[in-house]
Amino acid sequence: MNKKGHVLNAILLAVGLGYILEPAGDIRTFRTIAEVSIPVVLGALFPDVDTAFGRHRKTLHNFLVLGVVAAYPIYFGNLRYVWIGVLTHYVLDLLGSKRGLALLYPYEKEFSLPFGVAVSSDYADAMTLAVTAFELAVAAAIVYEVPQRVVADALAGI
Ligand SMILES: [Zn+2]
Repeated sequence: MNKKGHVLNAILLAVGLGYILEPAGDIRTFRTIAEVSIPVVLGALFPDVDTAFGRHRKTLHNFLVLGVVAAYPIYFGNLRYVWIGVLTHYVLDLLGSKRGLALLYPYEKEFSLPFGVAVSSDYADAMTLAVTAFELAVAAAIVYEVPQRVVADALAGI
């Protein structure tokens, strides 16, 4: 996917996450969107830094980089939400282009999905929107369903 697609995906994802995390639609919702949007957009742009430094779709397109970025909020207390941008970048590259990613880098093999659309395709924007909608559905399921099930299971165990 190109930069336009990554930024579009990240902005829509951040707005959707704002409403999922603070659904009231009031000032807290917009504060959450502001809190989430810049980190997610920066995370969504970060992997393609390897076009200039490293090997594209290898050096910064792998689970090790995602793990390091995801560990920052835990160990250093910063870069919260950036991992979401990095993860969505990978998803969009897998579905919004034909070439794969070296997800297990430094193992060189590039993994791809059989139903990815080419970046230049007329369906690239539609794929970006579909990926965003799917990611928001997953996020909503995690935010709304997982905690309830954990509580329900804990209560059932009492
Ligand atoms: Zn990329």
